[in-house]
Amino acid sequence: MTANEPVLWSKLSTTEIRDAVQRAHATVIWPIGATEQHGPHLPVDVDHVLAASIAERVSARTGIPVLPTLPITSSWYWRGWPGTLSISAATLGAVLLEVCSGLAASGVRRLILLNAHGGNIPALMEFPDRASQAVPDLAVRVLHWWEASPRVTALANRDTAPGDGGYRVTHANVGETSLYMALDAGTVRLDRIDAEPDLDAVPRFYFRPTAEFSPNGVFGHPSGATPEQGRELLKIVIDDIVALTERAAAEMLADGA
Ligand SMILES: [Zn+2]
Repeated sequence: MTANEPVLWSKLSTTEIRDAVQRAHATVIWPIGATEQHGPHLPVDVDHVLAASIAERVSARTGIPVLPTLPITSSWYWRGWPGTLSISAATLGAVLLEVCSGLAASGVRRLILLNAHGGNIPALMEFPDRASQAVPDLAVRVLHWWEASPRVTALANRDTAPGDGGYRVTHANVGETSLYMALDAGTVRLDRIDAEPDLDAVPRFYFRPTAEFSPNGVFGHPSGATPEQGRELLKIVIDDIVALTERAAAEMLADGA
């Protein structure tokens, strides 16, 4: 089905949720955000806002209900930076799992975790299998927005690193900053970017704390960000995620649901 407005779980009554879930092939999207430093030029809610904004735009096109965004998640690699709030990967996994029983009771059979933060990847990687053991009727897909398609990945990371197994982080870079500008340009302060890291100097093989090669928490060259680039990237992200969800709606689960 199509809709013009997003279907927001938190704004519906219990009976409206039952009906909205049925109409959406028992599918919901859960935006997974973060509250963490994003350099001197962006607020700490970037991942929260991106996850929610992308999910709501997908919902407006598909009718898939959107759960309330999870705002504080596993921001271990920015620990110690003012503004960063974090829970452990184990806690994140437990929160996700415990919410799943409520989803199942609401008739949800397909859950898309729309993730906007790389630090959540360890917890999210094992989650679909854990969820299928705990709630056998629930099929889970983890989708990081920057991996919606190869063209999204290329655009999102065009100013950050490098092949050869090096760091490739979509964080406070030109892609993420432009996206935020497309949503809320007035909050972005490009004039506060005091330095941009030399990503050629980043270790390619061994892990090092991020603060060693990004002293202000920025990756890439966000000073080149513009709302136009953000709108272009946002459109592609939405188009490609909508296409994925439409293909997935036709996918039968093991019991024919
Ligand atoms: Zn971010």
